[in-house]
Formats: sequence, structure tokens, C-alpha cells
Amino acid sequence: MPDKALSFSLADFFFNDSPDVLTPPSDFLSWVQHPKIQAAMRFFGQQFVTAPRAEAEVIDNGGSRRQVINMTSYNYLGLSSHPEVIQAAKEALDRYGLGASGAPLLSGTFDLHVEFARRLSEFKQKEDCLLYSSGLGGNLGAMQGLLRKGDVLIMDERCHKSLVDGGTLSGAKMLFFSHNDMKSLEAMLEKSKGKRVLIAVEGVYSMDGDLARLPEIVKLAEQYNAATYIDEAHSTLMFGPNGRGVAEHFGVEDKIGVSFGTLSKSFGGVGGFVCSNAAIINYLKGYSSPWNFSCAPSPAVVGGLMKALEIATRDSTLRDKLWANTAYLKKGLLDLKLNLGGSESQVIPIIIGSSGEKLMQFAAEIQKRGLFLQPVDFPAVPAEARRFRISVSSQFTREIMDKALNVIEDVIARGLRD
Ligand code: PMP
Repeated sequence: MPDKALSFSLADFFFNDSPDVLTPPSDFLSWVQHPKIQAAMRFFGQQFVTAPRAEAEVIDNGGSRRQVINMTSYNYLGLSSHPEVIQAAKEALDRYGLGASGAPLLSGTFDLHVEFARRLSEFKQKEDCLLYSSGLGGNLGAMQGLLRKGDVLIMDERCHKSLVDGGTLSGAKMLFFSHNDMKSLEAMLEKSKGKRVLIAVEGVYSMDGDLARLPEIVKLAEQYNAATYIDEAHSTLMFGPNGRGVAEHFGVEDKIGVSFGTLSKSFGGVGGFVCSNAAIINYLKGYSSPWNFSCAPSPAVVGGLMKALEIATRDSTLRDKLWANTAYLKKGLLDLKLNLGGSESQVIPIIIGSSGEKLMQFAAEIQKRGLFLQPVDFPAVPAEARRFRISVSSQFTREIMDKALNVIEDVIARGLRD
């Protein structure tokens, strides 16, 4: 394998011409053995030995245990280890046990699931809601359950893999419009006239932190009689005057057909939910495999999630803290002249550019200095926009953010200048 190992990526080994399905491609086997790739892989899969708080402890892949400032977890509101959430989860665990022990239609539905789904529908101002064991399962199951061969799914090119895979599974025709480009979206709507069309977008784009241009998107959807689906994984509980998401932020909730959210990010738990009108939710139950052929979410987790929803919506304390921290960090990063792309949210990319070597070198150095930020490489992001991605949390203190900015200045800002 030539020394340019870092210019190869997982995008290069998808096709497998080995003689049997249980043998990876030979090029892949030599690539993963390359010392530079081995060094890059060491960042991934490190073990947390504490909750994913802003100050956490990890065991790295060399076996050393260390304290870190953690800016990678999706624990945006700090709810994963909020004392009231833990207490509520413990109570549910004591009462219901660990697992639901059944699919929702047979024996997996508990009063807790029904109540939580009711509260989520009320919160999202939709008639009904389905709970899934994972966010990925929710997107996959909604696409698979709503769309049929002959339908058209038009989605932003930066939509999450779960939406893409769900679209593939459904058999619908899939069209990808250029990111947030209304001309591109309109051209696709134009050529899909006469078909059943669903437009799928994210509220906050997960790798860039920018927002969907919802007011224009819903206008086009109305004009072309298309249905709309919004993935609010990175915006629920954070955007909008009441935390209902980017659709609330733009005042277009009533124009959104399906509102999806995960329970693994701001909620601090795990799972996904799909909210829409009661008739389609009832229909979806019959055709959404990750819902009807999979065990219902753990009641202990649902108990904790119910409390998380209550805490995040009883007042705006956590949201206010999150936005104050986001503003502080962004200002600090912009003062360092770093490229934050088009971030408009708590997801802040620090774009490094096309050098995979630099990305990995910076990652090694910042992690050595106790800042836990993960490198994001191609093909997860475009090859010319390799990056780090900060997930801001309401748990950050000024002291934590100043320490992190210090490391970022010494390693990334200086390294990019040299
Ligand atoms: N949608 C988006 C936009 C996401 O970023 C993610 C996860 N990163 C998911 C869906 C899947 O959610 P989960 O991790 O809860 O399965």
C-alpha cells in the first residue's frame, strides 16, 4: 500500500470482489493495517467511564485513563445524567424492569409508553406519535411505511443516512436537491408533477449546524402539493420559543406533515419518535418494521425521558444556558479566525480543509492536551471540508470553554497558520 494511505477512505472499499462474502476486500485488509490508518482509528471507540458530561473520564485505545473536557457528546442539555431524570428512570426500572419484552402491538406497550407518546404529540402539536427504540429506526420506519414504489422522495443532499436508507427500502424514487438550494428543490418538484411527493429535510443539519430554509420549503411544498417531513434530531427542545424545534422557530409547524425527533440527543436517552395526523400514524403501525417487528423501548429509559421532557419544557433555563454558551464559544472561535462554515446552532464545525494528515495530527494533539473532540473525515463530510465538530452543551462553564479555546488556539489556529 503506498504511503498516501490517508487519501483513501471507507468510500473506496464498498465493492467487494473477494471470493466469498465473509472475506473483506484485500485492499481494505492492507489499508487498515497501515500505521497511519491504525493511528487514525485509535481516536474512535474510546471508552467513557463516566457519564458523557462536559468533564468526563475516558480510557483511550492505548489503555490510559484520563480526564477530558468533552465537547463531542450530543448531551446538549445535560439531561442524560440530570438527578431528576436518573431518579425517574430508577423508579420506572423498579416498577417495570429493564426491557419491554415484546413488540408494541403484542405485549410491549406499557402505560408509560402510551403516556409518553401522548405528551410528545401534545408537545409537537400533532395528533399522534409512534415511539421507536432508536432514532435511526424511526426515520427508516417512517420512510419505509409512508412511501411506495412510484412515489418520489425529494431530500436535501445532506440528510442523514437513516432517511436515505429508509427511502431506499421503500422503493420510492429518490432525488437529492443541492443543500438548501430552493432552485434545485423546485426543479425536482417540477419534474415530479403528478406523483405523490414527500420532501424531507433536517431542522439543524448535523454536520454543518445550519438550518433548513423552512419558510421557502413549505411554500414550495404547498405550491406543488407535496408532503413535508422534518427531522428535528438536533433541534427539538432547543429551537423555538417553547423548544418545539426549527418548525416552531420559523412559525410553520402547521405546514409540516411529519415531525421526527430522536430521544438520544437533547433528551439524553435513546429512541426516536414520529408525530403526524392520527390516521397516518395508525396506518404506519402496520407497515413500519422498526416499530412493529422490534421490541418497544425500555420502560426504564422511557421513565427517564418523560422527566427529561418535563424539565426541558417547564421553563427556558437549559435552553437559555445552551444559547449563551453557543454565543460565547462561537465568538471565541471566530476571534481565532477559524472557519465555522454556516453554523447557526449549537452544532459548530471547525473546518480544517482537505488535509487528512493535518486533521489527524490536530486530533492527536488536542486529545493529548485533554480536549475530547473527534475528527470528522471523508466520506462523512466532503473531502475538502474535513473538520472537528463541537456539540455545545448547557453544562459547559466559562472555565471549561476558556480551557478548550486555549487548546484550539494553540493547536488548530496556530497549526492552520503555519
Ligand atoms: N437523524 C439525524 C439528523 C441524526 O443526526 C441522527 C444521529 N446522529 C439520527 C437521525 C439517528 O438518531 P439516533 O442516533 O438516535 O438513532
